[in-house]
Amino acid sequence: MVRVARVQPESMAAELGIVPGTELRAVNGRELKDFLDWEFLATDETVELELQHPDGDVETYEIDNPDLEPWGLTLEPPTVRRCANRCEFCFIEGLPQGLRKPLYIRDDDYRLSFAYGNFATLSNVKERDIARILEYRLSPLYVSVHATNWEARKVLLNNARVPNIIEQLTRLADGGIQFHTQMVVVPGLNDGAVLEESLVDLWALGDAALSAAVVPVGLTQFSHLYTGKSMDGPMASTILDQVNRWGERALRERGERWVRGSDELYLLAGRELPTEAFYGEFAQIENGVGAVTKLRVRIRDGLSRLPRIPGRKIGLVTGVSMAPLMPELLAQLTAVTGAHFELIVAENSLFGPTTTTAGLLVGADITRALRDRRDLDLALIPAETINDDGLFLDDASFIAVRESLPMPVFPSYDFIDVLEHEVHAAAA
Ligand code: SF4
Repeated sequence: MVRVARVQPESMAAELGIVPGTELRAVNGRELKDFLDWEFLATDETVELELQHPDGDVETYEIDNPDLEPWGLTLEPPTVRRCANRCEFCFIEGLPQGLRKPLYIRDDDYRLSFAYGNFATLSNVKERDIARILEYRLSPLYVSVHATNWEARKVLLNNARVPNIIEQLTRLADGGIQFHTQMVVVPGLNDGAVLEESLVDLWALGDAALSAAVVPVGLTQFSHLYTGKSMDGPMASTILDQVNRWGERALRERGERWVRGSDELYLLAGRELPTEAFYGEFAQIENGVGAVTKLRVRIRDGLSRLPRIPGRKIGLVTGVSMAPLMPELLAQLTAVTGAHFELIVAENSLFGPTTTTAGLLVGADITRALRDRRDLDLALIPAETINDDGLFLDDASFIAVRESLPMPVFPSYDFIDVLEHEVHAAAA
């Protein structure tokens, strides 16, 4: 069902009498099953729209829209397609009890893969879905491959009925669909020869396989299903060597590195992260591939915009994994601003000490790290810790946390974003 959530005043939708709650039923005789149908079918110059008003009246409108004027409506969020797998390493299974319900939804939805870049395994994709992907040209998709070896993939996804991913991807590639891929590597299951086979198979798909990311398995203290080994430094190093051999080959043969290890692999292996040129378009930065390097670049490029604020004392809260990389960045900020920056490393109280990512810190961690720091003029916390509703993962609201602390607190992506605008007012 496709139902309207909001309508912009004076828009085309408003002029037709569409209001929140109106159900959009069919366009040009085709039934609308979800937002994809609406987005792809309702952009014709001539549209016959069948809808049902909230009072139950059904009407059909003929609309000429030669300039493809936007409709001015927002749909209710789609019902997310649930995951049919039960991976031992599933992050959702590694969440503690008692968090807000939406966090426990295991989505595996090719539509969200196209619309928002969410990774999907394609395990629950049916023939009719493939037909839609091809018809609507849903490209690029983001695909969790993990292993192209079918048997290994069944074990990894804990799903004996998982389709053959290479057959699926070949079909999509033949239909002109491109995809970014990822392999979450579980030691002993899909590293070594299995990873090699995956890279061989994906490489053979040519330009359709836009990029490949290799990410180490990430576990929390609540990952109760996991029976495998955890990733350690030597394993991370071996994987990086293998991945970078492929990267060199890709660079030679196609002029693009194509496959890269995630930042976490470099941190685990104790290796220096590559420079900007290594990451090309940063195609998988949301997946933690090149995120640290991008941060360094943003800071380098933003330093000239920072004011001099000598004597100010500014706290920077981060997670354990980022801590070793921070002194170099803090030294640059100090040299330009004259302020004193103090690194405050917070442990994750919700997921446990094995979860060291700054973006997963929760409100309670921020509060504990800053509540007694009356000596600070200002504190910056990772902006990734807060969702669009202003909530941390433990449901604490940012506003409540900020008001409980003795200094002005700002969420920040790269320090520059706050320091160039807010620092005068906040620290004055
Ligand atoms: S594919 Fe695996 S990791 Fe992803 S949501 Fe499903 S069970 Fe969890």
